[in-house]
Parts: sequence; C-alpha cells; structure tokens
Amino acid sequence: MSRTVYVNGDYLPEEEAKISIFDRGFLMADGVYEVTSVLGGKLIDFDGHAKRLERSLKELDMAAPVTMDELLAIHRELVAKNAIVDGAVYLQVTRGSAGDRDFAFPDPEKVPSSLVLFTQSKPGMAYDPKVQKGISVISIDDIRWGRRDIKTVQLLYPSMGKMMAKAAGADDAWMVEDGMVTEGTSNNAYIVKGGKIITRALSNDILHGITRAAVLRFAREAQMEVEERSFSIDEAKDADEAFITSASTFVMPVVKIDGAAVGEGKPGRVALRLREIYLDESCKAGI
Ligand code: PMP
Repeated sequence: MSRTVYVNGDYLPEEEAKISIFDRGFLMADGVYEVTSVLGGKLIDFDGHAKRLERSLKELDMAAPVTMDELLAIHRELVAKNAIVDGAVYLQVTRGSAGDRDFAFPDPEKVPSSLVLFTQSKPGMAYDPKVQKGISVISIDDIRWGRRDIKTVQLLYPSMGKMMAKAAGADDAWMVEDGMVTEGTSNNAYIVKGGKIITRALSNDILHGITRAAVLRFAREAQMEVEERSFSIDEAKDADEAFITSASTFVMPVVKIDGAAVGEGKPGRVALRLREIYLDESCKAGI
C-alpha cells in the first residue's frame, strides 16, 4: 500500500510527491535530516530531535520551514495517516530550489527551504532478533568532512562504509581518525571495561546522538560509571563489552571487531541492561 508523505505543506500519496531537480538537497547535499522512532504509536524523544534539527539549521544558516510545534503536528499526522505502530518518521529540510544551479546560497526571503517527511513501518522493531546475537563491525578510515555534529544528508561515505562492512561479512563499520574511533556509520560507539562505559566526548568530530544523550543520562541515574573520552580499536578489542546506539537500533551489542571477539563474544550485561532501561523509559516518555 502506498504511503502518505508530506511535501511542503501537502499530504500526498508517495507516487505524487515531487521536488524540483534544482533542489539544493539533490544538487549539493545542502540539507539536514532527522529520524525519530515510533514505538506503540508514540514518538520517541521528539524534543531531542527537534532541538538538534534547530541547531543543524542554525549552523548552516538555513531557515526553519515551520515551527517545532507545527513539525510535531506533521509527525503525528503522518503516524496516524499511515497507521504506524512501530517504525520511524524521516524528515529532511533542504535549502530549496532557486530554479538553477549556483554554488551561492539563494536569498532565504526569496527561496523557501523544502520540507519532506515520510514514515517507515517496522513492526516489532524493539524486538530485533540481532540483539540476542550481537553485531559485528569492521574498522575503516574516517574520511568525512569536519562538521559531523551537523546532521546533513551527505551520507555517501557512511553508505560506502556499510558496503565495505557487507563485503567483509560484517554488520557495520566503526570509523577511525588519528588512531581513535569516532563513531559508527550511523550510530555512536561505546566500550565497557571494568563496569565503566566509555564513549567519545562530544565535539565537531561526531554526531551528538539523541540516543547517546538519553542512554548516558539513564546510565548515570543507575549509578553506572561513564567516561567520555576517545578509545582505539585495540582498546575496544580488549574491552569487556561493546555496543552502539541510535534512534533506530536503540542500544545494540557489538560482539566482534575486525574479526576478534569482544569479551566472551556475546552480548554484554551492561549493553542489555541499558537497552532495557532505554526502551522502558523512552516508551513511557513517548508523545
Ligand atoms: N552518528 C551518526 C553518524 C549517525 O548517523 C547517527 C544516526 N543518526 C548517530 C550517530 C546516532 O544518533 P541518534 O541517536 O540521534 O540516532
């Protein structure tokens, strides 16, 4: 069945949704996005995603196409129209179309930004069977640009990273810069050693994950020790546990790095506990 999607003010069947070939998102990857998960028909951490979107727009001098209240209403309308129980709402804002190709930004007074949203249905996504086995990752060089804190639609290298992982028989890739892990292709990376949760500190080098913020808050509330610092692939291989977080995978155990088993080679206690807390608390707070 065709989805109902949202494009610049209209709710349309996906086949009828149109964006100009001159849209700067298409020509220049001049756009930002957010993915908010839906569990039991509720939006998970909408406020966090809306705040990060505002920040991404501000950092790129891009106008917000609607207010954050309007954005919430559009999310809810799409979840209802598409009868989403579990899944995600994808949202993208681009600098719009000036009717031609030009490197210079168009005047935002004359060229409004484009806003597109669509849903993805993933029934039972909180019960992903991969959690029981854990996932494997490979390490790859991080050759992305220097503003990874802005959630832009420049996802070519992360896509290539996922393909490199697939070719190596692994599930995903962790990116490494100056000998230290930055993050996963579409997630934040963590290790656990002696009960301590270690993850890279926030900077322009990584995306400030909304799931990361929630998971670290829950970990601290549960009296778990958290250290925000960089770690290497060697340190990760030698850790007791490893895991990733993102809005679509929540907390997912990592059991193998570059072919080497992490800890006992099975999902760790800390990762599984954090996943449980995260899902419980986020579902309760869903809107
Ligand atoms: N890092 C990168 C590079 C990502 O693409 C994502 C997913 N958007 C994350 C981290 C995790 O962010 P979040 O928890 O907000 O989904």
